[in-house]
Order: sequence, then C-alpha cells, then structure tokens
Amino acid sequence: MDDRSDRLTILSNRLPVVLKRRGSKWQAEPGSGGLVQAMNPILCEDGGCWVGWPGVTMEEGEGWEGALTRVGADSGYELEPVVLSQNELERFYEGYANSVVWPLFHGFPDRCTFDPGFFEAYGGVNEKFADVVSERVDDDSFIWVHDYHLFEVARRLRQRGHVGRLAFYLHIPFPSVENFSKLPWREQLLSDLLAYDLIGFQTERDLRNFGRAVEAHDVAVVTGKDGGALHLARRGRAIEAGAFPIGIDYEDFAGRAATDEVTRKVAKLQSDIGPYQVLLGVDRLDYSKGLLQRLRAYEMALENHPDLREEVVFFQLVVPSRENVEEYAALKREFDRIVGRINGRFSTASWQPIQYLYNRVDPVELSALYRLASVGLVTPLRDGMNLVSKEYCASQVEGDGALVLSEFAGAYEQLNEGALVVNPYDTEETARAIYEAINMAPVERRRRMEQIQDILRRTDVFWWAQQFLLRARAVGRRPDGVIGLETAGRTAG
Ligand code: UDP
Repeated sequence: MDDRSDRLTILSNRLPVVLKRRGSKWQAEPGSGGLVQAMNPILCEDGGCWVGWPGVTMEEGEGWEGALTRVGADSGYELEPVVLSQNELERFYEGYANSVVWPLFHGFPDRCTFDPGFFEAYGGVNEKFADVVSERVDDDSFIWVHDYHLFEVARRLRQRGHVGRLAFYLHIPFPSVENFSKLPWREQLLSDLLAYDLIGFQTERDLRNFGRAVEAHDVAVVTGKDGGALHLARRGRAIEAGAFPIGIDYEDFAGRAATDEVTRKVAKLQSDIGPYQVLLGVDRLDYSKGLLQRLRAYEMALENHPDLREEVVFFQLVVPSRENVEEYAALKREFDRIVGRINGRFSTASWQPIQYLYNRVDPVELSALYRLASVGLVTPLRDGMNLVSKEYCASQVEGDGALVLSEFAGAYEQLNEGALVVNPYDTEETARAIYEAINMAPVERRRRMEQIQDILRRTDVFWWAQQFLLRARAVGRRPDGVIGLETAGRTAG
C-alpha cells in the first residue's frame, strides 16, 4: 500500500513510453501525444503513477523492466506495467476494444463482431489492471482512468472494497441510444461506468447520449442537470457526468510552426509540390475518418469547378493503423483505387491533383504541412474530438488558413463558427465547401482563424486537465462515509 495520500494515479491502455529492442537490450523512450503532454507537468510536479501496458507481450520475455524504471525516474513519476499475453491482446485489444466498442461508439454497428469471447478477455484484462492498482493505492488516492479499454476497472476496484475517488474520461464519442442499445453487454457497461464518481466526455452531444442511455436502460436516476453537467444517483451514490473538450498544447504547436526550421521546410515542400494551393488531410487509416467520402467530394469539386484544376493539390497524409486487420487493409486498397482514378482522370503533364503519403512524419514536417496548407480538410464521419483540426489551426502563424470541418467531429462544438461546416456524407456540400474555402477572401480567412485560435488558446490541453481535475477533486466523501459530490467549488462546465 502506498503511503502518499491524494496521489494521482493515471490508467490508460498504453504506458506513456515506447519500448524498443536494440539488439539484446531494451530501450524506453518517453512517448508523445496529447495525453502525455497534459499529464506530464501534473505528474512531475505532484508525483504519481501511470499504469498501462508497456507495449511488449509476455511471449517476448523479460529484460525490459530496467529500461522502464530508468525512464520513469527521469520523468519524475512511476511507471507501472501491466503485461499482456498475445492472446489477451488479440481478444481484448483487437477484439472487444477495436472490433466492438470502437465501431459501435463511432456509429458503425454493422462493423462490430459481438463475440462473447472478446468480452470475457476484456474482463480479464480489466481485472489485471485492477489487481495492479489495488496493490498500490488506498482510499485517499485519486485514480483517473482513460478511455474505452478500461471501462470495468472502477467496478472491479469497488468489488474489492475501494471507496476512494475514481474518475473516467472517454476520448471517443458516446453513441446514440439506438446504437448503444445494440451492445449485448449494454447494462453491464453502463453499471461499470456508474461505478466511477465522475465520468467525462468530449462533447455535450456525448453527454446527452449517455444521459439518454442511462434513462433508457433504467440503471440510475437523473437527479439534476446544470451547467452542462448531469447528476445521477445509483444505490446511494452520487455520480456526476460532464463534457470536457480535450485541447492541444497550443503554444507548442504555434511556437514550432513559427521556427526557422519549419519555415525552411515549408519552402522546400512548396517547391516539391509545385506552385499550387494545398488542401491538406492528416488522418490515421480508419473508416471513421471519412477518407473515401473526402476523395469523392474533391473529385466532384474538380468536376464542377474546372478552375480548380492546375490550381490546387490535395495532399493527404495517411498514418498507418491496425494494418494486420483485414478491414483496414481493404480500406487502404479502396483508397488507393480512388486516388488512382482521380489522378488518372484529371492529371496533366505538369500537375497531379492528389499527392499522398502513407507514413508517419516527424513533428517538424507535420508542422510544415499544416502551415503550408491553405485549407485543412477535416471531414470524419465521427470523431471523439479530432486533434488534427486544432493542430492545423494553431499552426496558422499568418492566420490565413481555412478549416473545412465535419459536423460529426467533436471539435465542431467549439469551432463551428470559424470553420466551414460540412456533412461529410453530403458529397455536393463538401465539394462546395472545398471550393469556397479555396476562394475565401483573405480578410474573411483571418477573421475566422483568429476566432478559432482564440478558443484554442483559452481551452488548451492544460486547461482541459485542470477543469477535469478540479471537478473530480470536488467529488468528496460525505460525513456518512458515502462517496458523493460536494456542492461547493463548482468550476467546470
Ligand atoms: N500525428 C502524428 N504523426 C503523424 C501524423 C499525425 O503523431 O505523422 C498525430 C497528430 O499530431 C494528432 C494525432 O496524430 O495529434 C491524431 O489525433 P486525432 O485526434 O486527430 O485522431 P486519432 O488518430 O486520435 O483518431
């Protein structure tokens, strides 16, 4: 049992490190990404612990623990690994998490494989996390669990008698009640979420969907709604749910985009691409990102507006993802086919309408692509938040980019006034928005971008973490020993 009270313990599927084998030795490097950036300063200052899978399987043997301890010591907080077997990874991660929850919660129930074996493996892995956590924490600890891989940890800790504060944040969307109700384990999932004291969502829409699911399945009583929060009661416990839109490290992106190194890279990219305006897409290869619909909309824009030809280039960066899953390989093949068709149809001797890169790029190159692009095309069919939309806007150091944004991205709730909003299923509307964005007057571009940047600056990732933690720490123990919410000190919305 740990003796430090009120210590923050973070749980996420992956630890914030990347373990790499170099010959017979393991090396651990600190990870990147929004969550790591947000949590690092807090954990470094207050101390704490991060529990997660280190990225190696049981079958790969040992020898990596020392590397993990060293990187943990350097970062100022502890890293606690939960080791998984290959079989667990397949059924828990690729199975339940990514073939049930991911498609269902993004609104694609037909893509789900509701295999009871997956659900069982998911329970087993959540039990492992609960085992590791219960060894380390007491009731004064504060535990913050992240994302859809770990819904069950709170319930499993409660079953062991844990009465301390437990908070959960869902990074992906929460589905409509019609889609949610298709889940064979729907009541169980809701009860699991309700074992937390605070449940955070990206948007008001997700929060509303959750509230409707709770009411439809009668698993808790809604005792109040205020300031964007939902108050619930279940078996004598008070639970709060709220919307906390995740931000980016705005200064980091804006600062990097303004460096000489990025400026040089922008010039180099422009000369490689040619003297054309650039439309940019940056997405993981995933069906939720609307990649095929975006290609069709661009094709229609070229068809309807011949003046775009030899004027613009659509540069799409596709980040490889889940490559060993057949569905993703099929998406890649279809993407390649449509790119080939459009390029075959419209290319001239000196111009090709689509350039595409299937790879990851480093932060400098990404920043240069963002800065170079006149238009950011962010048209997912559904997305929890979509950080790319925010990173693109933060990188507009001259303030003259334009954002085309899907109404189904979480970012829509914050950025809809500054962006050109589209329904990505509506090819004509998206094609029109592409044309409008390319032709938008500089004054209008600046006005819209300034408004977006102001929002992003005020609601950055540090603001997000602080709002969530303030709210979560207000979940206190009442004098009768029951965990409930203190009514004072409410700040987050
Ligand atoms: N990204 C990256 N390397 C790349 C391209 C993108 O690390 O080559 C990052 C990008 O900066 C962003 C993240 O990948 O932070 C994508 O996040 P988003 O919320 O847009 O979508 P997700 O992939 O989480 O569904």
